[in-house]
Amino acid sequence: MPKCQKCGGNWTWKQTVKKSFTLDTRMKCPHCSEIQFISKRTRKWSSALMFVIPLVLLLNIFWEPTLWTIVIMICIASTYLVSYPYWLELSNEENLPF
Ligand SMILES: [Zn+2]
Repeated sequence: MPKCQKCGGNWTWKQTVKKSFTLDTRMKCPHCSEIQFISKRTRKWSSALMFVIPLVLLLNIFWEPTLWTIVIMICIASTYLVSYPYWLELSNEENLPF
């Protein structure tokens, strides 16, 4: 679970997912109310995944889309969502992705 870099408090799974759903990269710590950012490493991984998922979907249009590929994609997407708080890392500064 992500740990606040200011107060060291651990965020719960629910808090992390809730905060991740906003487009804002800033996330307020539920313990100390300090602003935390998604670390560079986490952002690199999530952007890689965000690139792979639509790519697979696109390839699926050219090939024959089957029910199984849709099911597999849903599984990957939900696994990603469920596991996200486990590998999310927080940072005190906003690291620009590039
Ligand atoms: Zn905190």
